[in-house]
Amino acid sequence: MFNVDRIREDFPILKEKVNGKPLVYLDSAATSQRPIQVIEAVSDFYLKRNANVARGLHKLGEEATRRYEEVRFKLKDFVNARSEKEIIFTKNTTEAINTVMYGWGMKNIKEGDKIVTTIMEHHSNFVPWQQLARIKKAKLELIDVDDEGKLKESELDKIKGAKLVAVSAVSNVLGTRNDVKKICRIATDAGALSLVDGAQSVPSQKTDVRDIGCDFFALSGHKMLAPFGTGALYAREEVLDKMDPMLYGSEMIRKVTIEESTWNDLPHRFEAGTPIVAETIGLGAAIDYLKKLGMDDIRKHKEEITAYALKRLGETKGVKIIGPKKASERGSLVGFELENVHPHDVAAILDDSGIAIRSGHHCAMPLHDRLKIPASSRASFHVYTKKEEIDALVAGLEKVKMVFG
Ligand code: PMP
Repeated sequence: MFNVDRIREDFPILKEKVNGKPLVYLDSAATSQRPIQVIEAVSDFYLKRNANVARGLHKLGEEATRRYEEVRFKLKDFVNARSEKEIIFTKNTTEAINTVMYGWGMKNIKEGDKIVTTIMEHHSNFVPWQQLARIKKAKLELIDVDDEGKLKESELDKIKGAKLVAVSAVSNVLGTRNDVKKICRIATDAGALSLVDGAQSVPSQKTDVRDIGCDFFALSGHKMLAPFGTGALYAREEVLDKMDPMLYGSEMIRKVTIEESTWNDLPHRFEAGTPIVAETIGLGAAIDYLKKLGMDDIRKHKEEITAYALKRLGETKGVKIIGPKKASERGSLVGFELENVHPHDVAAILDDSGIAIRSGHHCAMPLHDRLKIPASSRASFHVYTKKEEIDALVAGLEKVKMVFG
């Protein structure tokens, strides 16, 4: 049974006070909190097992390598990739997408080619394509959203003739859950490669890259209960094998002479330099934790909290919710505006009450321009979020309204 009170016991930070008030953490879309199991996995490594990977022949080094590589298998299973060779460890989603931009895009995109993305993208899945198009004199076309913040069906036609389609599984502002399986199928049928930004979807629903049918999938560990500095790029082996490395040096090398160098096998070819070992082992512990809770139950819990937030915020005078009306069409976040109050003021006053939300453009400026708003507020949820915290948010918003008359 999914027992939130029990789960909260695993997150020591949730017992902290902020501004003298119990912490109400509603900013998990920016970064999640970490359970003690993850924190202990990292400290255990540094306390008892620290050594570099894939280098020393000593016992500690071998053991560190074994544990580190074990996480690759865990992640492969977690996203249902065919092989561990298809999992490249990166610092985060942004680095994963840039690995594709440099490794595949610079090689394959030519003048006049078309790249398709959407207006709802985070800058991390927008700027790399914008810049690639600029460098290569290619065209960048955007799929627009309707009034509810869903991708316009009629604009999926833009995919025809594209070389690459890059789309987020869940928008970090609108909350919209995109039908990435359908979009990837249209892309494949059109002869384009597809990339899915899974930063906001992976912590909230089962990920199956084979079922989605994408060529690339990017994710961040820090949003899925894992340490900062962890993340991954999934890429179909056949595509990955033909890509160029983005960074050179260290374990990505097979042989170096004064004249030339050759590259290591997959996946190491794309992992230059000493990796983030302890934190990646923490990522393994986070995957274990999520799997133990069960992604289907996590999805159910988050949908319930999101539905409750949509209801409570929807009943709050002056609040305008951004994005789809139904929780089933969303990831676990709700973006909103409060009439006549700047989002930064909303966040600052809520913070006085110990309530942490995000305000600003959320690294999605083109989307905010499209919505004709300079900024928005966002409450986001995770496995440890309780309905009482949504009540606290609504009470906090009443206070904001009082302050602003
Ligand atoms: N895409 C989306 C949809 C996001 O929400 C985020 C993080 N806010 C990113 C990409 C970038 O993730 P990171 O900063 O971990 O690279």
